[in-house]
This record gives sequence, structure tokens and C-alpha cells, in this order.
Amino acid sequence: MICVSSIDNRLSIERSEPGRRGLKIKNPLRGKACLKPELRRKDRPKLPELSEFDVIRHFTRLSRLNFSVDTHFYPLGSCTMKYNPRFNEEAAALEGFANLHPLAHDDCSQGTLELLHDLGSRLNELLGLDAITLQPAAGAHSEFTGLLTAKAYFESRKEERSEIIVPDSAHGTNPATASMMGFSTVNLASRPDGRLDLENLKKHLGPKTAVLMMTVPNTLGIFETQIEEICRAAHEAGALVYMDGANLNALIGMVKPGELGIDMMHLNFHKTFSTPHGGGGPGAGAIVCSKALAPFLPVPTVRKEGGRFVSDFGDGRSIGKVKSFFGNTGVLVRAYAYMLAHSAKEFGEIARCAIINANYVRSLLKDLYPSYSKEYCMHECVLTPGPDLAAKGLKTLDIAKGLLDRGFHAPTVYFPLIVHEAIMIEPTETESKETLDAFAAAMKEIHALGVSDPQALKDSPHTMPVKRLDEVQAARQPNLRW
Ligand SMILES: *Cc1c(COP(=O)(O)O)cnc(C)c1O
Repeated sequence: MICVSSIDNRLSIERSEPGRRGLKIKNPLRGKACLKPELRRKDRPKLPELSEFDVIRHFTRLSRLNFSVDTHFYPLGSCTMKYNPRFNEEAAALEGFANLHPLAHDDCSQGTLELLHDLGSRLNELLGLDAITLQPAAGAHSEFTGLLTAKAYFESRKEERSEIIVPDSAHGTNPATASMMGFSTVNLASRPDGRLDLENLKKHLGPKTAVLMMTVPNTLGIFETQIEEICRAAHEAGALVYMDGANLNALIGMVKPGELGIDMMHLNFHKTFSTPHGGGGPGAGAIVCSKALAPFLPVPTVRKEGGRFVSDFGDGRSIGKVKSFFGNTGVLVRAYAYMLAHSAKEFGEIARCAIINANYVRSLLKDLYPSYSKEYCMHECVLTPGPDLAAKGLKTLDIAKGLLDRGFHAPTVYFPLIVHEAIMIEPTETESKETLDAFAAAMKEIHALGVSDPQALKDSPHTMPVKRLDEVQAARQPNLRW
């Protein structure tokens, strides 16, 4: 852990010393500038003047303030923060992929096209569906792509369907996407066990229903045991079933969503397929769907023609492009490397280990932090602060801050919205028993501190460069200027 007193919080501009320089490189273009004089700046830019060493130390120091998958256990629920194998990076750095010009002709990009084609085929097979687009940049962008595709599908059938049904346990992006697309959202209350209520669903399904959007397993980490009946009911009403596949890590290699009756789904490569999340990106998503929806997917897709791979611009029914070229190809190369490293059976093993890890954490903590559901969970568990801490006026936020002091990235908090004071933990399959034990020990220590000295927990974090932020102001009026 970082010793706070040793952190020099000055910005690089505050460290500036006139005349201090890094490596000096002769500029052969000096005096031959091609910019017109009126376009050139009159004054020198106000850049910090620093030695190369100052710069390296400054940014290395800042980077060490981060929590990351490489430095800390990162149990952020719903996000699948698994290890990003370095082998993936090596694959993405191969010259043929890294230096390919995005406008290169098909003849010059056969390797990349073959990779995209094979990645798509393997995913179709793994998920039991027929067609795929790899263009979307992330999960939410995939939802947007999926609903656009569904809209085009219904328009082609001259059906006017204006409603999207979304359970109240859904990720916020689901209703947000629906309303962005001009649909109205019908919010379905979950049953007390956290599952979708089939009878209630049937009451809301009708000729206006376009799509039922559901997360499987849902955001409470619970499998929808009636999923086949649910899909059947939606299909009887003429609606499509969209699966938010962000939680695919719980099912991969064990269940084929297409066989459950899902018409279209998205997946998040930066979750299930081990590519880095980055700071809000870069990621990559995909829409995988049935034959009936395939003509409406974004173009180009990759088609195999004899021994060649060609960009396929469809038959005019496509929704068009949602992202330049073939999507975030560099991320897709990483995902492909991960894909090739595992057989279908091994993917099943990944899912089983993710489930065991989540249940292990849940069982270690269940006496102090009661879980929302009384059943075993899938790949993530939703806990609550419990009566001892609540009696001291302590909240989930206090627990999250206490974890930072103990060297753990906080889990997802206050989501799903239907659980009061939720703490959502997703360990993923890549964590060891020792790490999970250490995390549980920290959670127990936080509980003990909360009971004996609640103020100390309310004042946490004690070891971070910034303490409690005014989170509302930070979100609504972020002041990012120096
Ligand atoms: C992460 C997530 C999303 C959004 O995906 P992004 O890749 O972050 O855009 C949607 N639904 C669920 C359930 C998620 O966990």
C-alpha cells in the first residue's frame, strides 16, 4: 500500500523549472516550417519545463495511485474484472494486425478477415446462434445495435411495435437504450426471489411488444430457471427476446443461449473474453443473433468465398454502420487469442470456477453480510451490510471505503437498485483461494471496526490521497481544471 505522506501532489506544471529539458533532438525541419506565418503561434506554449527523469517519476507515481486488475483484487460486480493474459497482448502486437491500414483492400488483409470470420464462427457455435456482428464498441453500444436491428426487422414485416419490456433488476443501460431508440419501456417488477414473474410478463406481452430484454443470469446473480417458458411466451406474442450477455461468464461453455430460445444477445469482450476494460474503454461488443435477424446487422461482415475472405456489404437491408471499419479490431485480436486458448469444455470450467468463487465468498461472509438471495448464486453475489453495522448507522459506502484502506478495489455498490444498500461481488474465476480468503478477512475486519469504532469507518479511507468526495457534486459539476 502507498504511504500517503510520501506522495508529492504537485502537478507537473508546478514542478517546472525554467530551462530544464529532456533529451534534445535536432529538428531538421527547423526554419522550413510549412505552416503559414499567420497560423503559427506567437508565444511559446506554456508547457512544464522538466527533465525526462522528472516526467518519468511523475507519471509512474501517478500510475501507482490507481487500483487495477494487475495490482489489486477488483471484485466489481457485473463487470467481470478478470486477469488479462499477456499472451493476448503479444498477439495484438503482431505486425500484421497492429500495422494493418484500416482501408487496406481485402486482398491485403486476408489474415485479419480470417481471424474475424473465425472468431465469429466460433462464437456462433459456442452460443448456439447463427449470425454475428463484431462492430459495436462495448455492451451498451451492442444494445443500441441490437435494438436498431430489431427495429429494422419489424419494419420489414410492417409490424408496428413500440414497447420494450425490461425487468426492474436490469442494468441501467437496458432501459436507457430502449428510450434512446424511441421505444417506451415497460418495467416489470421481479418476484421476491429476484426472478422474472412469468404470469405478470404474460399480462404485459402483446401486439405492441417489440423486445423483451433480459440479463441471464440476471443482475442479482440468479439464473432465470423459467427462461424457456419466458422465451416461448414472448415468441407467442410475436416479440423477440434480447439477452444482455454481460454475465456470460456464468454460462459460457455450459449453456447455449440460442437453444434456450434467445433471438439475439450481446457479449462484452472486455468482460467474458479477458480483454482490458481500460478507463471507460476501449472495449468491444458483439451482437449474436438468429438467421431471421441476420440481414439487418451492421455491414460489413466477413464472408468466406471459396478460399478467400471478403467484406460483405449485405443486400441493402442492413442498418448500416455503427462503428468504423470492423469495430475495435485490436481488442478482437486479443479476444481471439483467448478464444483459441480454450476449448468449449474449458470454457465450461471457467464458468464453473467463477460460480464456485462467488459462492465461496458468499459463504465466508454470509453471517456478517446477509446475501439478498437465500439460494446459491451464479458468478456474483449480492450482499448487504447486515444488522450490526446498520445499528451503528453505517452504510455500504463506508464498507467500500474501508476496503480501499485494506488494498482492495471496492465491489459494485448500490446496484442492483432493487436491493437496499447492495454490495455486489464478482470475484471471477481468475482469483485464487488465498486472495478470496484475504478479501473475506478484510470484510470481517471492517465489520469488527464498524461495531467497535463506527466513526473510524465513517472517516475512511485513511490511506488514500483524497478522502470522501462530494459524489453528487463530483458527478454533476466535475471541476477537472487546475
Ligand atoms: C457492463 C454491463 C452492460 C454495459 O456494457 P458496457 O460494455 O459497459 O457498455 C450492460 N449490461 C450489464 C448487465 C452489464 O454488466
